[in-house]
Amino acid sequence: MAGSVAMYQAMTRMGHATGTDFRQSPNLSGAAPGTTVLVLGAGLAGMLAAYELNRAGYNVRVLEFQTRSGGRNYTLRGGDTLTELGGATQKVGFSPGNYINPGPWRIPYHHQAILHYCKAFGVALEPFIELNHNAYLHDTASFGGVPQRYRHVSSDFYGYTAELLSKAINQKCLDQTVSADEAADILHNMKVWGLLDKEGAYTARLASERRGFDTPPQAGPDGAGVPSQPFPRAEIMRSGLSQYVGFHMLNDFQTTMFQPVGGMDMIGRAFARQIDGLVTHNLRVSAIAQDDTGVTVTYEDHNQAGAVQTAKAEYCVCTIPLPVLNQLDVRVSAPMRAAIAAVPYASSVKVGLEFKRRFWEEDEQIYGGISFTDQQISVMSYPSHGYFEHGPAVLLGGYMFGPAAWDFAGMSPEERIQAALAQGAKIHKQYPAEFSNGVAVAWSRMPWTLGCCSQWSEESRRAHYRTLTTMEGRLVLAGEHASHVGCWQEGALLSAVSAVTQLHARAVGAG
Ligand SMILES: Cc1cc2nc3c(=O)[nH]c(=O)nc-3n(C[C@H](O)[C@H](O)[C@H](O)COP(=O)(O)OP(=O)(O)OC[C@H]3O[C@@H](n4cnc5c(N)ncnc54)[C@H](O)[C@@H]3O)c2cc1C
Repeated sequence: MAGSVAMYQAMTRMGHATGTDFRQSPNLSGAAPGTTVLVLGAGLAGMLAAYELNRAGYNVRVLEFQTRSGGRNYTLRGGDTLTELGGATQKVGFSPGNYINPGPWRIPYHHQAILHYCKAFGVALEPFIELNHNAYLHDTASFGGVPQRYRHVSSDFYGYTAELLSKAINQKCLDQTVSADEAADILHNMKVWGLLDKEGAYTARLASERRGFDTPPQAGPDGAGVPSQPFPRAEIMRSGLSQYVGFHMLNDFQTTMFQPVGGMDMIGRAFARQIDGLVTHNLRVSAIAQDDTGVTVTYEDHNQAGAVQTAKAEYCVCTIPLPVLNQLDVRVSAPMRAAIAAVPYASSVKVGLEFKRRFWEEDEQIYGGISFTDQQISVMSYPSHGYFEHGPAVLLGGYMFGPAAWDFAGMSPEERIQAALAQGAKIHKQYPAEFSNGVAVAWSRMPWTLGCCSQWSEESRRAHYRTLTTMEGRLVLAGEHASHVGCWQEGALLSAVSAVTQLHARAVGAG
């Protein structure tokens, strides 16, 4: 059940989600003023498309299913209610000022498009702590099920690996592979990287410089610290905890990461302010038709008891997530239809738990960052803001993908919270005494997206990606699914840039 982390790593790799080359907003000069465009969906992709087209002189209208803009860019605070497919309704009980981001929660430093628009729209960002050396790594079958500090595991893993490689070289096992000069270089590097002594051994005295001391150095005559003892090598290797050490090395999770001050929806709200007056909420698009002259969109208007209406425009940008779009009556070519049907969405569940106090800070000196476990909850993340505050605080008590997410999505919200509490208590014994309330969001049960994010395989990408992302007639698709940066807000924005660039080229007769 290291499954969730492995799933997530696999997903981001399939999307090839790594640094993007966004440099500036699209140049849409020369648009015929008043050319009409319908944008379907007011998530980040839809809002950016509307913003850039409107700025270029297009006459834009956005149709959005929900009563708010932002889509998956979403933050839950005390008093909010959430109804999922199946009818379960949760009322969030967090204290004032506390929140959980049930969807996006962190932004890598190399996601230049979203960082560009955050700066342009005045969204204040603060560091998101991804790697915390004092957080825990937990494997039910290792170390007697006792969670271990990241710094202990990473130090021992590097130290023993360096020691073994040094031994192999010194015992001439690699003479066929490396020259004498290279062997000397490797020995030097291993000493520095693994913190080995001059004999090439990983010892308690030096290891404590990374692991920390069992008794930390103090003042006074008896103040010398007591070094901490590395774990047995075989136990470290068998535990498999090194996978979590590797996780933070992935380009998507390297420092510096950011989060908006006050919740992820500060970004969605800022985008919404830029297109004030263009969005109509509470409309459910049910059909999209097009001919040589324009696009006709049919929708139910839930501001008027679900009355069926139509809207017409010369062009359309559709950002409706594929599992929803696949159920609508969309008049497109057979290859486009196949592309829309070809991409499954991952399931994911996030659990936000409010506790009466910041015991992780007060008792365990954990300030932000992530603990990993091989239990279903997979991840536990401590708030990267509000350090040292008194009173209740919210942590992410579980973040699941794969089979664990399907299991949790099959439970009632209260059962999800209870399961997260039982598993989290294996890491923090304070859980039962300090718990106040929680909320659990199953993305496969969100009617407007029916999943967390697109999950392209290499095969489906080869067969369908170009079709899906190429404007067909007067309709162009956008959304994170229409990018190689899947499951990131960056992908949604880049897809919008691609869509409006294609639309503009077509509208001015250059495409
Ligand atoms: C659990 C989770 C964790 C994530 N973590 C991160 C992260 O840490 N960092 C990051 O950058 N990204 C993250 N993402 C990905 C990010 O949230 C998405 O890539 C991005 O928000 C998608 O934007 P979008 O505009 O493509 O789609 P959406 O935001 O889904 O927008 C689509 C819009 O279409 C509307 N709609 C649907 N059906 C209809 C209809 N019939 N009629 C009219 N409107 C309709 C929806 O209501 C919605 O507003 C995460 C996502 C999830 C779910």
